Amino acid sequence: MPDENRPTNFIRQLIDADLASGRVQEVVTRFPPEPNGYLHIGHAKSICLNFGLARDYGGRCHLRMDDTNPAKEEVEFVESIKEDVRWLGFDWGRHEYHAADYFERLYAWAEELVLAGKAYVDDQSADAIRDSRGTLTEPGRPSPWRERSPAENLDLFRRMRAGEFPDGSRTLRAKIDMASPNLNLRDPVMYRIKHQSHHRTGDAWCIYPMYDWAHGQSDAIEGITHSICTLEFEAHRPLYDWFLTQLGLAHRPRQIEFARLNLTYTVMSKRLLAALVKEGLVAGWDDPRMPTIAGLRRRGYPPEALRAFAERIGVAKADSTVEVELLESTVRDALNASAPRAMCVHRPLKVVIESWPEGEVERIEAPWKQDAPEKGTRQLPFTREVFIERDDFMEVPVKGFKRLSPGKEVRLRYGYVVRCTGVVKDAAGEVVELRCTHDPDTRTGAPKDGRKIGGTIHWVSASNSVPATLRLYDRLFQVPNPGAGDSDFRTQLNPASLAVVEGARIEPALAGAAPGERFQFERKGYYVADAKDTKPGAPVFNLIVSLRDTWAKIAAQEKQ
Ligand code: ATP
Ligand code: MG
Repeated sequence: MPDENRPTNFIRQLIDADLASGRVQEVVTRFPPEPNGYLHIGHAKSICLNFGLARDYGGRCHLRMDDTNPAKEEVEFVESIKEDVRWLGFDWGRHEYHAADYFERLYAWAEELVLAGKAYVDDQSADAIRDSRGTLTEPGRPSPWRERSPAENLDLFRRMRAGEFPDGSRTLRAKIDMASPNLNLRDPVMYRIKHQSHHRTGDAWCIYPMYDWAHGQSDAIEGITHSICTLEFEAHRPLYDWFLTQLGLAHRPRQIEFARLNLTYTVMSKRLLAALVKEGLVAGWDDPRMPTIAGLRRRGYPPEALRAFAERIGVAKADSTVEVELLESTVRDALNASAPRAMCVHRPLKVVIESWPEGEVERIEAPWKQDAPEKGTRQLPFTREVFIERDDFMEVPVKGFKRLSPGKEVRLRYGYVVRCTGVVKDAAGEVVELRCTHDPDTRTGAPKDGRKIGGTIHWVSASNSVPATLRLYDRLFQVPNPGAGDSDFRTQLNPASLAVVEGARIEPALAGAAPGERFQFERKGYYVADAKDTKPGAPVFNLIVSLRDTWAKIAAQEKQ
């Protein structure tokens, strides 16, 4: 039933009306990916929409592989699609379907149209068909084969199926109207010949249905009540209706179109994503810089953040582009609520605390998340030698610098206040070590004499920390609209989209981080232990997103 607390939208209003009028008793939606690549965040929008509606209305959502095209589809993609939908938190139950399973039924329906004089075999090449299609201002030209008799068409169509003809030599076309203002109705191709194995039907077929011929009937077979798709299918709707009418099918899914998701700094089409993978411009479909669901998962985006993002952007009838900062901000919100805090020094600078006894270790109990005591605590070993971040020290501090410099004090987070008493340099004059003293009264509170401490910095013990590899990810593209116009997206890649930091140091409690575990590294950003490459004793962390929220600024500007 409709959820009173959920903001409504035009799709929900149409469904509400269908339920109210009794046209529909149970809401049945579907998510119909073509398994020719990995799903991306645009698909996530469609998944959240279709499965979300089914959930909210107590109906069901089918997962249908739109596998009409043998050339491009692979089992790997089918498996990845299922994994991604599940990971997003949705369940299709027993309702997994494949357009390929309808091939026999679709073929029988096609013969019906042939016999009724509503479809014909055309001997023209694909190019000739395209050339005779006309334009928006000119009608198309009828094929010389358009007036074949039903008997001749049936014979040829059966021989097409039997494999008598080579690829591309003939097609089956619907006989509709070569002068229709809607180009989709100018005798669209229903079948083409392809002597190719299909990942599901093997070599059973050498003719394959076009998407437009398969789609509406697949919806009808499954009893889909609301067929929700992106705007480009609006002009195909009359064709789907024409097919259902000719076949006399009583079931009519209501097709509702919505605007696809576009994101700045992102390419979204599977074709371009496949090119990035094939040309080795990224490390694979699950490269953490990819907008694929597999890539975002490996990057560390939590599934609840993608669901919240889909909710936030809503659905609209007009195409637009969403700022990628909004996605990043949504991810930050989710992680801020859930991720434990920990310390990681990216570029270590050794500090010797001369007032601290050699060999003494104080195990400081620190909360994983200050505002969530239920998350528990871990121990931070405090030792005579610690590492701090190289850029938390300035020998000649700039104005307003609140961290460490000679003679100045800073608090080591959860630890003591230390004062820099000396600087050790190498032959080249570079600072390689700091000497400090600590104030023993400051472990749990401010200095007793009331003096102010400017800043707090993160640190790890030198002897009790663990080396780690960090992968600092940034946007894959350096322009907001990659591939726009005639531009080549390959030339717009961000050369700094990945920086690898070796020799970072993490606190010992992180040494055993499980693949996929997420943390906030204090003052640095949100990180995830890489799902593939992190190993006990050799942790690898991916930067999920920095701490700086740039969305708030953009939103404020947009309001003005
Ligand atoms: P692409 O053009 O990116 O290759 P596609 O539309 O060919 O995508 P399909 O596998 O056919 O990919 O899409 C499955 C479903 O996901 C369709 O219902 C489609 O409308 C929807 N979808 C695809 N891209 C987006 C997007 N950017 N935003 C919202 N929905 C999308
Ligand atoms: Mg498609």
